[in-house]
Amino acid sequence: MPLHKGPEKADERPLSVNPFYGEADPVSGMTEAPPKHRLPDGPTPPSAAYQLVHDELMLDGNSRLNLATFVTTWMEPQAGVLMAECRDKNMIDKDEYPRTAELERRCVAMLADLWNAPDPSAAVGCSTTGSSEACMLAGMALKRRWSQRVGDRYPGARPNLVMGVNVQVCWEKFCNFWEVEARLIPMEGDRFHLDPQAAAELCDENTIGVVGILGSTFDGSYEPISELCAALDALQERTGLDIPVHVDGASGAMVAPFLDEDLVWDFRLARVASINTSGHKYGLVYPGVGWALWRDKEALPEELVFRVNYLGGDMPTFALNFSRPGAQVVAQYYTLLRLGRAGYRAVQQTTRDVARGLADRVEALGDFRLLTRGDELPVFAFTTAPGVDSYDVFDVSRRLRESGWLVPAYTFPPNREDLSVLRVVCRNGFSEDLADLFVEGLTRLLPELRRQSGPRTRDKSAATGFHH
Ligand SMILES: *Cc1c(COP(=O)(O)O)cnc(C)c1O
Repeated sequence: MPLHKGPEKADERPLSVNPFYGEADPVSGMTEAPPKHRLPDGPTPPSAAYQLVHDELMLDGNSRLNLATFVTTWMEPQAGVLMAECRDKNMIDKDEYPRTAELERRCVAMLADLWNAPDPSAAVGCSTTGSSEACMLAGMALKRRWSQRVGDRYPGARPNLVMGVNVQVCWEKFCNFWEVEARLIPMEGDRFHLDPQAAAELCDENTIGVVGILGSTFDGSYEPISELCAALDALQERTGLDIPVHVDGASGAMVAPFLDEDLVWDFRLARVASINTSGHKYGLVYPGVGWALWRDKEALPEELVFRVNYLGGDMPTFALNFSRPGAQVVAQYYTLLRLGRAGYRAVQQTTRDVARGLADRVEALGDFRLLTRGDELPVFAFTTAPGVDSYDVFDVSRRLRESGWLVPAYTFPPNREDLSVLRVVCRNGFSEDLADLFVEGLTRLLPELRRQSGPRTRDKSAATGFHH
């Protein structure tokens, strides 16, 4: 969340109340407008309060036109009903809501099986608020294993985590919050993610682990996880260093098992200690759920697990939060049950087909060069073709926004800061029909953009949007 400040002086006017609201509610006779930034002195009638909040939210964007986010924006009505039925359930009250806890356990078991845990009954895992919390937990487990290993032998030793510079911001947070040195492998040339050899070279006795991403938020590409593990195997043979791998599968861990069955990236690789995913991305659930799994008990130090008994029961938990809604976990179980493997495969395949088709058509416009083609994550990044100098990607992003499309433009990290791209994320619900409209909209913009005398968007950050 943004770290909010108090109100500006100019913003002290109260909420404006449509006189109708008061009149429509004879009981209230509401006369005074509630203030915006101070707790109102008295209650507001429910109908008026509802209208005020509802009306203000009308100006939020249309989530179906948002090609920036990975997060689910559509679920079927039955899922909504189940979520409404569970809105009072607190995930932490495992003893009061044993069936909700059981559904969480089944989700973990299904994911352990989906990710090929060699012994699914030995795998441990939990739900989280999203991948960020899951990554914090996985990072903490890696750090604790390192400190158990290093013990008091090297007082003052500083732990480090090796990863590509393209990692999602949650890993920068992890390193900052838990005081771990982030060792980042830069991009080079046309390599926009981690290089296995370079990763192995950055490891030393204080490396708590290496993070591999399936796939990268910058361009949707899968990082080469099995090659990474092989490079670390070779490192171990040479030096004795045994470095575990965490796979950040925020998106890809719910895509690859259905569409890329031959790709070996998961617990089949002995070096993969833990995996996370966002249930609310390609797990197809509304925001608020993620998953973290460890291959076995050795991968998750027992001392990090808390046993809560003051709500009754003695359930082991590993979480940053205490209270958390149970509805999203129930919705995840519903979706796994509802779709099954074949259903997930069909949904993800359709999304990938839309992404690939759209990437081809953007390329065919002639003005753009594709960096990725939507054939790993259903996501592609593109930039302006050589010779296009009357406009840049930030202009495209800004102009698309005028017709409601949110397509972020951003600059790549080191060593490709020279490269700026647009990125399209296809999700379930972004249909061929919407893709047609998108191409039409982009095509219509081009003549005007080509007539510009040069790039025009001064405030690049305004066009950028987020690119999580
Ligand atoms: C989205 C994402 C995250 C963060 O996930 P949230 O569920 O939004 O907290 C972490 N890593 C990767 C690779 C992501 O794509």
